[in-house]
Amino acid sequence: MKQDNCIFCKLANGDIPTNTIFEDEDVRVFLDAGPATKGHALVVPKNHYADIYEIEPDVLAKVAKVAQKVIRHATKVLGCDGYNLVQNNGEAAGQTVFHFHMHLIPRYKDMDNRNLISWTPGEVDEGEAKALCESLKIE
Ligand code: AMP
Ligand code: ZN
Repeated sequence: MKQDNCIFCKLANGDIPTNTIFEDEDVRVFLDAGPATKGHALVVPKNHYADIYEIEPDVLAKVAKVAQKVIRHATKVLGCDGYNLVQNNGEAAGQTVFHFHMHLIPRYKDMDNRNLISWTPGEVDEGEAKALCESLKIE
């Protein structure tokens, strides 16, 4: 399903041109318009799902497979040294476009933005961690 007022529905389905590097019946991969690094691309399903909560598991699996295919190829072309896969869900997590997408961000050893995706490790209270673990367990 497409959503009329969704920009990524239009981009993914070719209604608005993109710098596409891969396309099949389910997804389109195109270059991000505001790249974090050289070669930053987005894997976008052609059907509309707002986020990880909505996307169908089979489509999610397809996104992951296409991500691997693109990364294997692009690493050789770009000569990058690694990749970050980033996928934001919800405003609190930094999502700005509410059509599911996975960021493929090439990383280069000599770039000065090594802290692009990082955090300071927090402290763990063992009692709290045990209780948290219990509350999160999926049988
Ligand atoms: P997020 O913050 O995870 O929702 O990411 C949205 C991403 O979409 C950002 O990295 C934007 O640069 C990118 N973006 C927004 N509009 C376009 C567009 N028309 N073409 C390509 N990338 C876009
Ligand atoms: Zn959409």
